[in-house]
Amino acid sequence: DRLVSAINREPEEYHDRAMRPQYLQDYVGQPAVREQMEIFISAARNREDALDHTLVFGPPGLGKTTLANIIASEMGVAIKSTSGPVLEKAGDIAALLTNLEEGDVLFIDEIHRLSPAVEEVLYPAMEDYQLDIMIGEGPAARSIKIDLPAFTLVGATTRAGLLTSPLRDRFGIVQRLEFYSVEDLSSIVTRSAELMQIDIEPHGALEVAKRSRGTPRIANRLLRRVRDFAQVKADGVISGDIADQALNMLNVDTHGFDHMDRRLLLTMIEKFGGGPVGVDNLSAAIGEERDTIEDVLEPFLIQQGFMMRTPRGRMVTPQAYLHFGISRPEN
Ligand code: ADP
Repeated sequence: DRLVSAINREPEEYHDRAMRPQYLQDYVGQPAVREQMEIFISAARNREDALDHTLVFGPPGLGKTTLANIIASEMGVAIKSTSGPVLEKAGDIAALLTNLEEGDVLFIDEIHRLSPAVEEVLYPAMEDYQLDIMIGEGPAARSIKIDLPAFTLVGATTRAGLLTSPLRDRFGIVQRLEFYSVEDLSSIVTRSAELMQIDIEPHGALEVAKRSRGTPRIANRLLRRVRDFAQVKADGVISGDIADQALNMLNVDTHGFDHMDRRLLLTMIEKFGGGPVGVDNLSAAIGEERDTIEDVLEPFLIQQGFMMRTPRGRMVTPQAYLHFGISRPEN
């Protein structure tokens, strides 16, 4: 159970919701996404059309669900949320689609995990707002067509490459979320602290931001843990020094790495001579799922320049050797 996991952990969802910005103007960072969405949304509103289907991709915790909710509030419509693995049969998606009102947003998280049967139903629904479904079995089976209201499908996924191409092609808008800068995370921490009535100094917010792996969900979680520390070990105020002490105690280093990141990098260095090493070998060596490595661990390590992906496998960079104070092999 990682403190710096970007994946949502159930009991926390309540806090997350409370801190979720509701309109684009409160959505910190992601300037390109914000600018484009402002235009697309305002154009669709003026035409009184549903917004085009929108695919949002990026590592966990960067604000995909938040953006889906913002789209609905900005469009002034309702949102119905579900996720890929939950929808098993054609009937599951049909039930959702027939319950939508004109203009509504249907949000499907982990959209790369839809079953083929569900995808088949989605194609005509997305393209022509038509439900094309078989009812009954054997000789009595027949297909019926139902008109659907114009709606917006917002799909979220960690990597766009995981989608089948017919599904990907049906999204008119595709947005990629990037890791957040320290400045943006610092604003998010300050805003969350205000909402939670936590006393934090600018240096405190900066320290939490620096160690949050570019991820708002992690920033909000670290903020809560640092608040606990400040309450018990200090006067409740989070200064830069208190944040630093708290995060050291929690084993989150100055780069926001925890034991899993360190193990991944150290395994590459110590067992595989720094790479290149295939992701399946790495997965076996550290005992983590391949998906966890690809979706959760490596995007941030790559973005920070500690490892890279090559056609022959993963490699650590000189910066990783430097980080651990290990000297690089001659070749
Ligand atoms: P994802 O769906 O990508 O896993 P979420 O949308 O659930 O991520 O975001 C996690 C939390 O991070 C949200 O509850 C929200 O509090 C915060 N958050 C995400 N993006 C932003 C943002 N751009 N500005 C402010 N807070 C954000």
